[in-house]
Amino acid sequence: MPFSQLGLHPDLIRALKALDFEKPMPIQEAAIPLALEGRDVMGCAQTGSGKTAAFALPILHHLLKEEKPGIRALVLVPTRELAAQVEKSFHECGRFTHLKTAVVIGGVGFSPQVHAAARCQILVATPGRLLDHLRQGSFRLDKVEQLVLDEADRMLDMGFLPDIRSVLSHLPRERQTQLFSATLAPEVERIAAFTLRNPRRVEIAKPTTVAEGISQILYPIEQSRKSALLAALLKTTEIKSALIFTRTKHGADKLAKRLAGEGHSVGVLHGNRSQHQRTTAMEGFRQGKLRLLVATDIAARGIDVRGISHVINFDVPRAPEDYVHRVGRTARAYGVGDAITFMDPHLESGEIRDIERFTGLVFPRAVLPTFAYDAPPPRPADRAPSSHPPQQRDFNRHRRPGPGRGDRRGGHTQGNPPKKEKRAPDAVSYYQKHAPFSQQQKPRGYF
Ligand code: AMP
Repeated sequence: MPFSQLGLHPDLIRALKALDFEKPMPIQEAAIPLALEGRDVMGCAQTGSGKTAAFALPILHHLLKEEKPGIRALVLVPTRELAAQVEKSFHECGRFTHLKTAVVIGGVGFSPQVHAAARCQILVATPGRLLDHLRQGSFRLDKVEQLVLDEADRMLDMGFLPDIRSVLSHLPRERQTQLFSATLAPEVERIAAFTLRNPRRVEIAKPTTVAEGISQILYPIEQSRKSALLAALLKTTEIKSALIFTRTKHGADKLAKRLAGEGHSVGVLHGNRSQHQRTTAMEGFRQGKLRLLVATDIAARGIDVRGISHVINFDVPRAPEDYVHRVGRTARAYGVGDAITFMDPHLESGEIRDIERFTGLVFPRAVLPTFAYDAPPPRPADRAPSSHPPQQRDFNRHRRPGPGRGDRRGGHTQGNPPKKEKRAPDAVSYYQKHAPFSQQQKPRGYF
């Protein structure tokens, strides 16, 4: 079905043409007609599926029907980067309209936001800073007709639930609400229960799926050798641009420093960087000036850079949902990309098991033939930085019941402490043991 048959305002159709959006993506085809009917929508779509335009277009259409003053649409998002991304989508889709979008996020000055909010019809905000403004009386939200909760699962993970409740108390009860989430966890259903009225559900892909077109591969490697393996991969593999994930901010800084020392053009993105540093890193990466961007999960939400060829999980993410989000940064809008995960067999095999269950995939285990796996471990002085926090890890934190739990892998059931991971005697014999498997599913380009 072409966009023209959805009944969108002609100025929006013009913008879609200018953007080269030939036809709606599945989430757009399913959600836009419902939103245009005025229904509340609960959408679950895989990352990079076009969900931003799926809510932006009907909102713009609605606002264009009638001119009224004040902030008429509010989009709540978990991170500053996603806020910028959503603002960009509204700007692009509404380029032939008079409608203005403002952004309210932490880490930057208050007063420019107050001025921008006074002139906009659409406000994109992170809940914390928005609440600060509301408490100070910078502006009001009593004219809001359209509300979106974007990446609701992540907002809940980040502890925004109380802030969201407070923000809602500033909005009129009579409004249309759309909630989007990449994964539909039970907590998301709970937030839906008090924000949405008789919503229509739109679920394009199973919440655990990784976008098609992404080839996924696992390199078993000890934590202390990960930096060396990364350096070797960057030398020997065609990696045009890579987004590299570490678990901690400290780990991201150390790794970026090391990569820069090896001559790579690299940026860093995490919550301790100033907004200016974050924007500069993002722009450098977006424009191709930086080949590598090292980031933590929260900062990487909303990154939409076309043509990221590789996502590298330097550390395995704790939650399977994070894995889906991370690898969704490549192959956006149905492109292709590669996701590489480094797994310390002694430290991270539990998380990998969870991710494989969650996604229903078994990742091919790979070795880099030119890499000296049996090289002696680095002396403490030149030891690669570990980006694992020192505290005890809670293996059950992100467990959820599901098919396959405690089955083929002799795993533990929910609530029980996990069996102690069997410690592989050493890296080389681990690879020998897994070699036949990795040979079966040779990923392209790595051998
Ligand atoms: P999102 O999932 O909203 O972050 O969108 C991912 C990417 O898809 C963005 O770069 C959008 O500009 C792009 N996109 C959204 N809708 C379409 C469409 N109908 N055709 C082509 N690209 C699109």
